[in-house]
Amino acid sequence: YNVPFPLNEPVNPYIPGDSATESLLAKYKEMYNQAPIDVPMYIGGKEVRTEDKRPMSPPHDHQKVLGHFNYGGAEHVHAAIDAALAAKAEWSALPWEHRASIFLKAADLLAGPFRDKMNAATMLGQSKNVMQAEIDAACEMIDFLKFNVAYMQQIYAEQPESSDGVWNRLEYRPLEGFTFAITPFNFTAIAANLPASMAMMGNTVVWKPAESQVYSAQVIMELFKEAGVPDGVINMITVDGPVAGDIVFKHRDFAGLHFTGSTGVFKHLWKEIGANLEVYRTYPRIVGETGGKDFVVAHRSAHPKQVATAISRGAFEFQGQKCSAASRAYLPSNIAQEVLDYVVEDVNSFKMGSTEDPSNFINAVIDEKAFDKIAGYIDFINNADDAKVLAGGKYDKSKGYFIEPTVVVTENPKFKTMCEEIFGPVITIYVYDENKFEETCHLVDETSDYALTGCIFSQDRYAINTGMKILENAAGNFYINDKPTGAVVGQQPFGGARGSGTNDKAGSYLNLLRWVSPRTIKETF
Ligand code: NAP
Repeated sequence: YNVPFPLNEPVNPYIPGDSATESLLAKYKEMYNQAPIDVPMYIGGKEVRTEDKRPMSPPHDHQKVLGHFNYGGAEHVHAAIDAALAAKAEWSALPWEHRASIFLKAADLLAGPFRDKMNAATMLGQSKNVMQAEIDAACEMIDFLKFNVAYMQQIYAEQPESSDGVWNRLEYRPLEGFTFAITPFNFTAIAANLPASMAMMGNTVVWKPAESQVYSAQVIMELFKEAGVPDGVINMITVDGPVAGDIVFKHRDFAGLHFTGSTGVFKHLWKEIGANLEVYRTYPRIVGETGGKDFVVAHRSAHPKQVATAISRGAFEFQGQKCSAASRAYLPSNIAQEVLDYVVEDVNSFKMGSTEDPSNFINAVIDEKAFDKIAGYIDFINNADDAKVLAGGKYDKSKGYFIEPTVVVTENPKFKTMCEEIFGPVITIYVYDENKFEETCHLVDETSDYALTGCIFSQDRYAINTGMKILENAAGNFYINDKPTGAVVGQQPFGGARGSGTNDKAGSYLNLLRWVSPRTIKETF
């Protein structure tokens, strides 16, 4: 349906020394230097605090304590469910335009007075540099909010045919009961979008952010409150995942899970839901956006410099902590050396350090657990006979969780790091015989237990078609002659299948449709 669509939020260029940059960095400093904050849970509009206070620190400066969040238990999960159920009748009875206007106001506030705070919280709490924070916490979050309102409008407009004396209509009811959002640490925009998209469609939500994202999650709750989201519509709890899951997934009124995170956790949650099917009043909707092992495949006709840029930017922006990050590449023998030379040159030019210096391209990974996991993979590579580190490979956690962007080459296309998600700044590259493009595409497909993003580089249309066909199920977001990252809301709906999720395309009407349970009405005259 033809509804007015918004424009994507322009990315502020933050030129060093300009007023926008000065203002953001001043906010960053203010938040860094302020007395440690105390982040509550938000249940039924009330701020809830406990005796169990957990510290929040910048990943690039882990001795600094920004504040504490209040860790809850089973009673808080029950309270959040009760609050969501209590708020449901009034919220779902509102005209959809009323709900839409609240989230459009949130987008407007974020574009204006909240922008610096949301960006600075993301820079401090998740170690993103200025541009990474702007792209995630400002632009993508604004786009999710605005585009979802347009999709919402499209959905409500979709109505069946009627005839003389008969009026057929679809009433897009929210799901019956309450819904549950579980979000990852790596994108502030995702953390906001999961509860918001369910709430827009008239649902009320229990939201459990990742522990390592609570610092910016709190700003999201402030934004929603300021925009007018009523008490109890989105309830944020900071509780152990399994404790929360155990209660939510055994509740009769549990109606839907909106999850983004790792594949292993999602599979575990799905099994738990399956095991409780008899408990529920209705079949719960299950939407999961999960892990990736995203590929770059170059054909012998590809431009070496283009491929190299896709590798170095696709693998290392955001410290490789993007579900779409390039993490394996397949280079044909005729251009492999040239591509590798460019990549190594690029990587060696990347500066690494704290987030308030915008020239630092690489910042810290999220926490010690992630650091140890990634460092473990690098150690494994260093001890392997069939792979070697070509650039980077050093790591140091004395001040922050810093890992150098690491380029690995292997002669074994099924090498561990060609197949497993590392979720860090490491890419593994395999060089293939330039005459074996088709076989290589089959190999990529066979080793794709995940199917999130991937790209193919070629100047030969026939090769592009061949690759697209062979790899048709290997990536939910497929790029031709571009890096596999950077999907824009409203332009490239995002999501993958196989081990990467239920492919319900975040930031699209396909996703919003999962949060309604339509009633068909036939009225005769
Ligand atoms: P994660 O470890 O799976 O955690 C995700 C969320 O699940 C967190 O809130 C976590 O809480 C919670 N959780 C963990 N175990 C749980 C359990 N047993 N019951 C209930 N909740 C539980 O993932 P992450 O490290 O935050 O994020 C990285 C992963 O997300 C990567 O695999 C990445 O590919 C994926 N990702 C996918 C997409 C996509 O669109 N496909 C986008 C972004 C990220 P705690 O923090 O309290 O442990």
